[in-house]
Amino acid sequence: MTEALRPRPALNLDNAFYFDALKEGRLVAQQCGDCAEFRHPPVPCCPRCQSFDWDVSDLSDTGELVTYTVLHHPVVPPFEAGYIVGLVEFAEGVRIVMNLEIDEADVSIGMKVEVRPHFYDPDLALPAGFAPGAETCVRSSTETTDSTDDDEKEA
Ligand SMILES: [Zn+2]
Repeated sequence: MTEALRPRPALNLDNAFYFDALKEGRLVAQQCGDCAEFRHPPVPCCPRCQSFDWDVSDLSDTGELVTYTVLHHPVVPPFEAGYIVGLVEFAEGVRIVMNLEIDEADVSIGMKVEVRPHFYDPDLALPAGFAPGAETCVRSSTETTDSTDDDEKEA
């Protein structure tokens, strides 16, 4: 049986750096080379000063949950009922939409969220929000895979 995978991001010359960095374990965003404003999602031109000069800069590993929603229906593999999509704001000023790998009962608007690149399958790393200090994923679409999980505890 073929395992259903998450939809792939539509990669292009403007956004490939972001997904490449996630695969390397880094959470980054564009930062304007002229006015230093961070921006996300990636676009060619700074919305503040209209400069086309930009760099790739690391983001904080913690943000604040601005809002979230819990999806119950329809359920399409590989997603499972009850998965959570959150909007997290970083100190740098950007907001990123991501899955929250936190039990719904523990999620609240305004909470601090640890954001880490998370491999949902071997070829897809996306940002994911975790409860501060969480060692492992509470909810994961990769639970059926075996021991190559990078969330395993160090022995
Ligand atoms: Zn700018």
